[in-house]
Amino acid sequence: MRRPPSSETAGLGPVSRREASWWLGGAVLGGGFLVGGCSGGDGPSSRSPARPWRSASTESEASDRPSDLAPPGSEARPRPPSAEPLIRVRTDRVAGGQVEFGDPGRRLWMTAPATGFTAMVTGPVRCRRDRDGWSVRSTTRGRTVSRSIRDGGVLTLSAFDQREDGLPFKGRRLAGTIHLDPVGDADVDVVCHLPMEQYLPGVLGGELFESWRDATHESLAVAARSFALCERFHWLGRRGYDVVADERSQVWIGATAPARSRRAVHATRGELLVWRDLVVPAYYCAACGGRPAEATLAISPNPVNAIPPLAIPSPDRRPACGCRTLGSHGAWRVSMSSNDVVSAMRRWATSGGDRSLATATWPLRFDVVSVQRSGRPERIRVSSPATRASAELSAIEVQRILNLTGRGRPVRSADVALEVTATELRVTGAGFGHGVGLCQYGAESMARSGADRGAILTRYYPSAAIERAWS
Ligand SMILES: [Zn+2]
Repeated sequence: MRRPPSSETAGLGPVSRREASWWLGGAVLGGGFLVGGCSGGDGPSSRSPARPWRSASTESEASDRPSDLAPPGSEARPRPPSAEPLIRVRTDRVAGGQVEFGDPGRRLWMTAPATGFTAMVTGPVRCRRDRDGWSVRSTTRGRTVSRSIRDGGVLTLSAFDQREDGLPFKGRRLAGTIHLDPVGDADVDVVCHLPMEQYLPGVLGGELFESWRDATHESLAVAARSFALCERFHWLGRRGYDVVADERSQVWIGATAPARSRRAVHATRGELLVWRDLVVPAYYCAACGGRPAEATLAISPNPVNAIPPLAIPSPDRRPACGCRTLGSHGAWRVSMSSNDVVSAMRRWATSGGDRSLATATWPLRFDVVSVQRSGRPERIRVSSPATRASAELSAIEVQRILNLTGRGRPVRSADVALEVTATELRVTGAGFGHGVGLCQYGAESMARSGADRGAILTRYYPSAAIERAWS
């Protein structure tokens, strides 16, 4: 989870979903509508659009798709549901297969659906996968009780008192019904199944500064709800969760959230972004830098990403975005040493990149080959004149490579100008994150000028309607 710093100037600012992990060089996890899905989610790292929905997913996928959510032949987007859906949030993947839940003395319902096992147990409850299924240790009337459940399937836990503060686990309070889902030989996915409206406050709490305006929170609530619903549509029947609880999907801090976040979710209850009767996959980013990115390039080439609400108006028809002046992401510079850049380039080249650059030397050349409609670079040719090697890469891939250096401040977006000197690479950039959809800093700038959520959402998702699907 990436909690925003307490001050807008204290750090990098709110990191919109899937914005951040790319500079960690993270592996792709898989988020439905994202290229690389989770991890970096949008991590530009993930932007090699190899498949329509996303590129590399490390998650297993079944072939069944929910067929009842959209008419045959329609775009792969869900209809607005008439009732509030559950969302499945994976908070952790625990290696070794042992988890412990529950405050001492707190009573929990435990079930193993595959066997019909049901029991009331008292915390703390330790669940451990073993060869035969699960072994569970809990406390009853002061005595330790051990059980063996001969089934390798899902184990569920829920607090008997259903208090809103949930159950503590690894720094979060988990809400809803907690599913312990065996993965591979020994790991366990911890997945909360909870109503959408109960999930969203923890998203706003993780994605925005609490001090930001109500209209910003409300517009992000609508976007995050729409995004989560599309993820649910995509993953239902394919894997055991819809979203992960960090920036690879959208940050979720858990069951406890600031009052402003809860208010914004309540004020927008059931509201979705809709275009042609289907829900819009409402991607959003921390800061677009004034030159938004095309979803078909930055997210994935799936036709669903070419719909008008995700289109980029031409520069002469596009109002300036307030992220240029609010916060520190509008324009920024970083420098990196030639040694670090060459080392990162070689590492990339030998680990799945273009092998001709495996012996690249300084100075490298970076030439923009093509630009997107907004003016941000799309393709960049990277050359090593001394070794006569060159490769044409997406700007997103170049950003990912530069972040492999792992030093200094990250290259925050793929909207960069690259200047090569004798000893270093100077990066002048704009924005933070993939640059698609609602710009959080831009939204806050509009809100400070008096815009309401309707105006903000129309600005960033043109031609989308806001519809209340459930109340
Ligand atoms: Zn912006």
